[in-house]
Amino acid sequence: MRDSRVWRRLLGLGAVRVEAVELEDDRLLVQVLPSRRGGPRCGQCRRRCPGYDGPRGRRRWRALDLGSLRAYVEAEIGRVSCPEHGVVIEHVPWAAPGSGFTRAFEDQVAWLAVECSKSAVAVLMRIAWRTVGRILERVARRLHRPHLQLARLRRLGIDEISFRKGQRYLTVVVDHVSGRLVWAAEGRDEGTLAGFFQLLGRRRCLRITRVSADGATWITNVVRRACPNAIIGLDPFHAVAWATRALDEVRRQVWNQARHGGDDAHARQLKRSRWALWKNAEDLSPRQERKLAWVARVNQPLFRAHLLKEHLRLVFQLPLEEAVELLEQWLQWAWRSRLDAFVRLGDTVANHLDAILVTLEHRLSNALVEAVNTRIRLLTRRAFGFHSARPLIALAMLSFGGHRPQLPGRAV
Ligand SMILES: [Zn+2]
Repeated sequence: MRDSRVWRRLLGLGAVRVEAVELEDDRLLVQVLPSRRGGPRCGQCRRRCPGYDGPRGRRRWRALDLGSLRAYVEAEIGRVSCPEHGVVIEHVPWAAPGSGFTRAFEDQVAWLAVECSKSAVAVLMRIAWRTVGRILERVARRLHRPHLQLARLRRLGIDEISFRKGQRYLTVVVDHVSGRLVWAAEGRDEGTLAGFFQLLGRRRCLRITRVSADGATWITNVVRRACPNAIIGLDPFHAVAWATRALDEVRRQVWNQARHGGDDAHARQLKRSRWALWKNAEDLSPRQERKLAWVARVNQPLFRAHLLKEHLRLVFQLPLEEAVELLEQWLQWAWRSRLDAFVRLGDTVANHLDAILVTLEHRLSNALVEAVNTRIRLLTRRAFGFHSARPLIALAMLSFGGHRPQLPGRAV
């Protein structure tokens, strides 16, 4: 019990002397004395500072469980007077300032939050999901290396992602080359995005050559001002998403018509055709192919809508000349389709024609950016229960930012 070395290693405590180890009910309390060799340090910046007052009672930090026991580190610590941070709690080697958990505990929580389900983290670590959120923010700050990530940026993908059932938004910036999430902030407006380019700085902004986005004017306005050398294109997956939404509108219309016309069996069949219509044509199962053939036979408008969606998708897969030709034909076809949703989509596509042509010409978008954006969208479902957008952003950065958390005590 008196061997400090074993306890230090077990709990990841750093330079401390272990004074006592006790069992209190089902908790293990490890009392330690931090080494203050050379004087105490500021808890914020770790600079040596004069002590302000002596120990102010015992504090407790939750450490990693030992076997099935909850373990706690206890110490008496005081405050220091830092020239920069004022009177603050002194630095302890095992925990971040303001945290009630050891670093090893926090690192394990962060690793689990990235790798496992929400409930697995909370149950295994015996903490609330909200607490997980606060820990993620601290770990993300520890691991974040903005200067390394911003230095080599040339091609960006910018996107908006809704969370809390579409009530709130994140703006996210992804590196086209590495496929990593570079930056995220709450909000979707010019001010929010301008914050990123301020962080990037004038010199690095000038090196940005390509930007892909969803065609929103608030994005293109800011990019044009901040990055004069950048070509701005439209991410194809946004155009395809517009087409999928238009298709869904048509499907709902014909379904409602069938239902109100009293043809319930037909309405049910239409409802079941949703996936066959949505999926990419090359990914259909034999059953879905039959479904689609049925739609072609019984409901021409809906089948036309499906073909319009598939052809717009095809535009982004063809070589430039064929793509431009198909796009021109597609526009005429959409406008003549007598499907309101696609007539409007034709207008939208025409409005974004320059950005689409840039994309076709420069092959702007890639699967990496689409994959990261899709995965962040999935992540937002876990944001329920977090107290704000900050833990969600922390979780997104830890998952896709290129600095994934490591389990404590494992060499990288
Ligand atoms: Zn300080």
